[in-house]
Amino acid sequence: HNYTREDILELVEEEDVGFIRLQFTDIYGTMKNMAVTASQLEKVLNNECMFDSSAIKGYPNSESPDMYLYPDLNTFEIFPWRPQQGKVARFICDVHRADGTPYEGGSRYILKKAVREAAEMGYTVNVGPECEFFLFHTDENGIPTTITHEQGGYFDVGPLDLGENARRDMVLTLEQMGFEIETSHHEIAPAQHEIDFRYDEALIAADNIMTFKLVVRTIAKRHGLHATFMPKPKSEAHGSGMHINLSLSKEGTNIFQDSSDKNGLSQEAYYFIGGLFRHMKAITCIANPTVNSYKRFVPGYEAPVYMSWSAKTRSPLIRIPSVGGEKTRIELRSPDPSANPYLVLAVLLAAGMDGIRNKIVPQNSVDEDIQDMSAEQLEQLHLEALPGSLLEAVHELEKDTFICKVLGEDLAAKMIAAYKKEYRDYSMQVTEWEIANYLYKM
Ligand code: ADP
Ligand code: MG
Ligand code: MG
Ligand code: MG
Ligand code: MG
Repeated sequence: HNYTREDILELVEEEDVGFIRLQFTDIYGTMKNMAVTASQLEKVLNNECMFDSSAIKGYPNSESPDMYLYPDLNTFEIFPWRPQQGKVARFICDVHRADGTPYEGGSRYILKKAVREAAEMGYTVNVGPECEFFLFHTDENGIPTTITHEQGGYFDVGPLDLGENARRDMVLTLEQMGFEIETSHHEIAPAQHEIDFRYDEALIAADNIMTFKLVVRTIAKRHGLHATFMPKPKSEAHGSGMHINLSLSKEGTNIFQDSSDKNGLSQEAYYFIGGLFRHMKAITCIANPTVNSYKRFVPGYEAPVYMSWSAKTRSPLIRIPSVGGEKTRIELRSPDPSANPYLVLAVLLAAGMDGIRNKIVPQNSVDEDIQDMSAEQLEQLHLEALPGSLLEAVHELEKDTFICKVLGEDLAAKMIAAYKKEYRDYSMQVTEWEIANYLYKM
C-alpha cells in the first residue's frame, strides 16, 4: 500500500472501523499492541498515542519510559476474522521517545537502519521466508499440549491431514490481508505445516512474518487447535525452521543472477555469501534465540549442523536453488520461527553488505550431501559446526563487534545478558531425561 493520511480517514469511515490496534514488537519477537477506538484516529495519526514501556522487555525501565507509537500508514489492514460492523484494523508502529527521536532499541528501527545502509550502496534487499509450524490439540482446560491425532507426512492430503481445513482458512485470511500465497502444504512431521508467501522488500517481509504468525495462531484457535512456532516441540520429530531466501536488486533487476557462472550467481552474490559466513556464528544467536532452537540442529532431521553451502544438495546451511532469472536467490536454512524477524533480517543484511564492501570470498562449496557422510569424511572437509547451544551462540555474539554494532551496543549488551540468564535458568532444571538415565543407576 501507499496510503496518505486522507486515505486512512476515508478507509476508516467507509469500512466502518470501530477499533484500531497499534502493534509493535519486543526484542524477543513478541507482538505487542494497544487498542483505541476509531474516535481516537486523529490522535493516532498525529503520533500522540503514548504507552509506558517499562513493563515491556528490552525497553528502558527507569529513564523516561514514556514512548510514543508512530503508525506506519502503509501497514493499515483490517482483521477479516473480527466482526464486520465496527471492524478492527491495525497499524504496525515505530517507537519514538517523547522528544520525537526514534528509540534505538526498537526492532523495526534496527532493520530500517540496515535497509538504509544497503540502499546507500544502491541495493534493495528482497526476502522470502518459509515459516513452518505445528498444530496441536488443547486439553479440556484449553491448555496447549503437544498431542496430535494425525499421522500426516510430507505433502499428504486429507483425511490424513487433519490441519487441512485450518490451513485453508489461514491461506484465505492471509489473502484477504493482501498476502500473495505461493504454496501451502503438510510438512514432514505429523501435525507440521508450511505456508509460503511471496518475497518482498526486507521491512515489509519482517512485518509480514509478524502478521503471518498472528493470523496462523488466531485461525488455529478458531479451529480448536494450538499453533506453535516453537523450533523443536518433539524430540523425535523434525523441528520447525524459517528458511530465509535473500536476493539483491538494483533498479528492479535481480543482481544476484549471472547466467555465465556455473552456479548462476554474480560476484555480489558470492561476496554476500562470504559476509554471511564471516558472521554466521554471531548471527545464529539472533536467528536461533532460544534454548530449544539448538535441539533442531541435530543430524537426521534435515536441519543444518555444519557451515557449508552448495548449489547441488538440498540440506546445506546455505542452498542456491536451481532457478534462474528473477528468482535467483540464496537460501539460509538455519533460522527458526522463534527469531525476531526484524533483528534477524537486520543482521543478515548487514553481514551480506559487509561481504560486498570488503570483497569477502566464501569458502569452497561442498556438493556431496553432508547428511550422508561418515565422521571421517566430515573431518577431512574441515567444516565448522554451527554453535551447539544458546550459550555458545551468545559467546559468539559477544565476540562479533560488527554484529553488536548492527543491533546497537546497548541492545546487544541487554540481549547478551538476557540470553545468558535464560541459559543459566535452563541448565538448573533437572529434566526427565536425567531422571530416566541416572535415578536408578546411581
Ligand atoms: P523451497 O524450495 O526451499 O521449499 P519455497 O518455494 O517454499 O522454497 O519458498 C521460496 C521462497 O523464496 C518464497 O517465499 C519465494 O517468494 C521466495 N523468493 C523467490 N524469488 C526470490 C528472490 N528473488 N529473492 C528473495 N526471495 C525469493
Ligand atoms: Mg519450502
Ligand atoms: Mg517449496
Ligand atoms: Mg519446509
Ligand atoms: Mg526452503
